[in-house]
Amino acid sequence: MDKGMTKDLLAFIGRCPSNFHTAAAVRRELEGYEILHEGEVWNLRPGGRYCLTRNGASLIAFRVPAGEWQGFLLAAGHSDSPTFQIKTGGEVQGPENYLRLNTERYGGMLYDSWLDRPLSAAGRLLVRTDRGVESRLVEIDRDLLLIPRVAIHMNRRANEGMAYDPKQDLLPLLGLAGGPSLLSLAAECAGVREEDVAASELSLYVREPGTIWGAAGEFVSAPRLDDLQCVYAALRGFLSASEGRGLPVLCVFDSEEVGSATRQGADGTLLRDVLGRICAALGRELPVEIHHSFLVSADNAHAVHPNHPELADPQNRPRLNGGVVIKHSASRRYTTDAVTEAVFAELCRRAGVPVQHFANRSDMAGGSTLGNIVGSHVSLNTVDVGLGQLAMHSAYETAGALDTAYMAEALKTFYSAGLTVRGDGEIEIH
Ligand code: ZN
Repeated sequence: MDKGMTKDLLAFIGRCPSNFHTAAAVRRELEGYEILHEGEVWNLRPGGRYCLTRNGASLIAFRVPAGEWQGFLLAAGHSDSPTFQIKTGGEVQGPENYLRLNTERYGGMLYDSWLDRPLSAAGRLLVRTDRGVESRLVEIDRDLLLIPRVAIHMNRRANEGMAYDPKQDLLPLLGLAGGPSLLSLAAECAGVREEDVAASELSLYVREPGTIWGAAGEFVSAPRLDDLQCVYAALRGFLSASEGRGLPVLCVFDSEEVGSATRQGADGTLLRDVLGRICAALGRELPVEIHHSFLVSADNAHAVHPNHPELADPQNRPRLNGGVVIKHSASRRYTTDAVTEAVFAELCRRAGVPVQHFANRSDMAGGSTLGNIVGSHVSLNTVDVGLGQLAMHSAYETAGALDTAYMAEALKTFYSAGLTVRGDGEIEIH
């Protein structure tokens, strides 16, 4: 495995300052894919390539094989990352002549990682037109905002563990009184008149670009590695796969960091709607196809920490550059079971990709992700996987520089394969 794909990943992350930009960036990579609209009848044909978005922030792409196929081969990642969403009404005047932004948390971030570093804002504007409203992507592509810490001289206990108050400590500084408003800057970047902006959905993003570093270039650090590393790897695996015996589907879901319960999230109807419509358009029975389907839920995993190895499980502790991580949880917050582990590990073996395992330390609850949420709507064989990383939900996360290519290779092999479920627990891998 080489690091070339990690350089491509960093460029991709740079194009994804918000969940909306992620969906758009993935769509741009899907060259020659026909864009479907949920409000129209779908006429699908063998050999056809399709994609659709819902609410601008989730995307599903699929290819109908030209030859025989059975079941869906799905991989899913998420487009969103923890950030601060800018509240409606935006600016807070004062104290003194300062102009700050009013924000609220989106997801569970590590607060202090957002301090003392250049930030900006990105998202979408809803713009009035002659016919109604339409959505425009916007990124204010310059160093615009910063959340300053309090000096050590004014808080001598700052190094003893800070309790940050989001309404006081975490508001970003925009400028001084008399400067332009955030909305005027956003409208200018989007090429629209400020008075035509009917609504906005903007959040903060870290300006610092990603970098490959370490004594031998072992590491990669960047904003939003969770989960853009898996999204990008899944995209590359999806695009490079040859036609197999299943119908390949790439899913990028929004709203994972806030529980997935939105119209476009994994806890909505999106995936079931799309799979149902594919079946209807091609004369297939949804339950039969689901029976032969397999979902790889790809979301980053915790690698063992260099300064705190005691926080990891003694055995199931992924290393950076150690390959794809299969996640396990007895409470089934991760969906992996022995059947899906065996199938995915076999695919990785065929791909020449090393596999590692993650489980939470036995006294820790850990997080959850897309797999079990999707499963409550579309119950299919699912494995939860990821790539090892440090400082998950920091504004600047760290992972292994080789691992993106491992995941892409594993998913290329997966998408090129095909599964036939012969009996309960007996799966033929083509
Ligand atoms: Zn994630």
